[in-house]
Amino acid sequence: MTATSAAREILTRLHDVMAARTNAQAKLNQVVNIIGEALSSEVCSIYLLRDGLLELYATRGLKQEAVHVTRLALGEGLVGHIAQEVKTLNLDEATSHPDFAYKPETGEELYHSFAGVPIVRRERAVGVLAVQHAEPRRYDEVEIEALQTVAMVLAELIAGAELIDEAVRGGSARDAGPVRLAGLKLVEGMGRGHAVFHQPRVHIEHTVAEDTEAERQRVYAAFRQMREQIERMTSQAEFGTAGEHQDVLETYKMFAYDEGWSRRINEAIDSGLTAEAAIERVQQRTRMRMREISDPLLADRMHDLEDLSNRLLRIVSGQLGTAAQMGLRQDSILVARNLGPAELLEYDRRRLKGVVLEEGSLTAHVTIVARAMGVPVLGRVRDIRQVVQEGDLILLDSAQDTVFVRPTSPMEEAFDAKLVLGQKRRAEFAAMRDLPPVTVDGRRITLMVNAGLRDDVAALDITGADGIGLFRTEFQFLVSATLPQRERQQRLYRDVLDAAGDRPVIFRTVDIGGDKTLPYMNQGDLAEEENPAMGWRAIRLALDRDALMKAQARALIEAAAGRVLYVMFPMVSEPWEFDAAQALFETQRRWIADRNRLLPTAIRYGTMLEVPALAEMLDVLLPRLDFLSIGTNDLTQFLFAADRSHPKLAERFDWLSPAILRFLSRVTNTTDKAGIPVGVCGEMGGRSLEAMALVGLGIERLSITPAAIGPVKAMIRTLDAAKLRAAMAGWLAEGAHDMRDRLTTWADAEGVTIG
Ligand code: PEP
Ligand code: MG
Repeated sequence: MTATSAAREILTRLHDVMAARTNAQAKLNQVVNIIGEALSSEVCSIYLLRDGLLELYATRGLKQEAVHVTRLALGEGLVGHIAQEVKTLNLDEATSHPDFAYKPETGEELYHSFAGVPIVRRERAVGVLAVQHAEPRRYDEVEIEALQTVAMVLAELIAGAELIDEAVRGGSARDAGPVRLAGLKLVEGMGRGHAVFHQPRVHIEHTVAEDTEAERQRVYAAFRQMREQIERMTSQAEFGTAGEHQDVLETYKMFAYDEGWSRRINEAIDSGLTAEAAIERVQQRTRMRMREISDPLLADRMHDLEDLSNRLLRIVSGQLGTAAQMGLRQDSILVARNLGPAELLEYDRRRLKGVVLEEGSLTAHVTIVARAMGVPVLGRVRDIRQVVQEGDLILLDSAQDTVFVRPTSPMEEAFDAKLVLGQKRRAEFAAMRDLPPVTVDGRRITLMVNAGLRDDVAALDITGADGIGLFRTEFQFLVSATLPQRERQQRLYRDVLDAAGDRPVIFRTVDIGGDKTLPYMNQGDLAEEENPAMGWRAIRLALDRDALMKAQARALIEAAAGRVLYVMFPMVSEPWEFDAAQALFETQRRWIADRNRLLPTAIRYGTMLEVPALAEMLDVLLPRLDFLSIGTNDLTQFLFAADRSHPKLAERFDWLSPAILRFLSRVTNTTDKAGIPVGVCGEMGGRSLEAMALVGLGIERLSITPAAIGPVKAMIRTLDAAKLRAAMAGWLAEGAHDMRDRLTTWADAEGVTIG
């Protein structure tokens, strides 16, 4: 038996049950019999959520006395586990599962095998459908699929019959008072507006089809319409015709024409579902699979697919409007579980003041698009859609990782004051745009920005920065659906150089591998690395897979024809790695020269210092370098043996600890003697106090996030660098453990602006 025919047989019979004029309990009793018979299962039971507990509502096979008596908490027993995790269980020996809980009144000790699926409504389990068998056996895939399809039909029956908790049915257990929720800053900024749900929920009224062929035609038509929409969006995309936004839409297109997806929907229709239910069924299955995917990049791609699936559902059901299509009527904060990049692009950015997502990640396409649109985004805000009601006032402060829902007056006043202050400070910094970053004692500090995307280049003009001190070329690889070919790389580099004009751009060769895996690239056994940050990444991978590096070298050299090209290598640990990478570039340069093509006027080679071992080899390395850039993000994680993304260690080691400062001081002494310019391009340099300390150690070039240029410039213009250098030398010799306090007090006493 196939999955479709098993489900079809059950659905045909369920259809008659649901159409009959009997009460809900009688229907459930019939349902367990139908499923039990169809799957030749000795036991079939339905548990539903009532008063927060999972209650046995109907059973075939277990003792009837247990009905409405046996109750399990969420997380209790196998049934509670399924509901809590919203996950299918399929066990040949139920008792050996750690969550097994014995309920004597059911008489279930006779049965060994167990399979259960959640009955899901609004992405939460409202019940569990379970089958059991006396002999130990695993239910096969066909049976599990049939159960999942039936569970979907049951969800609608149950909701219609008002058998479950009102709060769950309505999808909300709302508290109407003020709430403050924490999240993760994805795009920094503040926003005030009224809550708008991106997707007014599509309500599926009928799950079992009357006429399968008609349902199939409806889905075909919807697919056609959706593809047309995507094509239109691609041709109208506001973000130009090339670059990452184009890449995003290309990913969309790839999914819109994906045959596997339409085939699965067709199979679900074959099993007897309506078009709407079939789309939802396939989406549910994708969601369940997604929960098991730990690769964040792949998970992001799955969100793109979910985005399209929602679109298809809206088209087929005629419930078309997203909030974007209905038009934002006032200043709005958009609330969504997640959002596809194309969906975000549909909003009127003048009224869109912020986005709050239950999911989201820094590398997701939607985050990249939002940054380009200048819309603040807070992600990973759990249960936002449960807590918030359409129209509620929301204050979003993503810099503080916070969102206020239905704020009190004092919350509003504090927020407004901060907003005004922020605007004032931004205006002050903007006014400093053309003032040079020179210290009180006359040292000109080079202030550059970190970038990685085409749109980031705009920051150069906005901030008045001296150039791009770190262009993370791997970003283009991370946002692409496929490996960017040399021509595409070259186009990006040329656009960046054109926009930068005569300001230098330091291109860092790709730092992929480690935690930045690319789903489309076969990285061998990379996925199994236990310590990816210390693994086969960046220059290590690039030298082993030199085709990638050769393509990038050619793209960079050709893009920089007629100008100076600055190239920097990441994660160099030993001087020979630098030599090998430089030799590879030089070979490419000769190859291009042999063909009489225009070359860069010069190539300047530098390296990142982010692996501590390299610091011991600077006397050997420095004579070969044009410049050195310290990557404090990786450097500090390796110095302290503290994972840079570990939440428990985030605050544990201070960038102003004497260990780091002494280390950096030794490096600057060595580079000074060798006459090689040294800069810092890690996040440390973007904080005013830390930046002050770096200048105090003799660092003369900082490459930082664009938003930090203003505050850091204000600090530099009020600093006497020589005086600080003398003070710091004394403190470091002493090994003072309280460097942060000392630097703060010193800045205060000396009138240095620390913003
Ligand atoms: C660093 O490690 O400090 C750095 C700038 O590189 P990334 O953050 O890209 O690893
Ligand atoms: Mg690094």
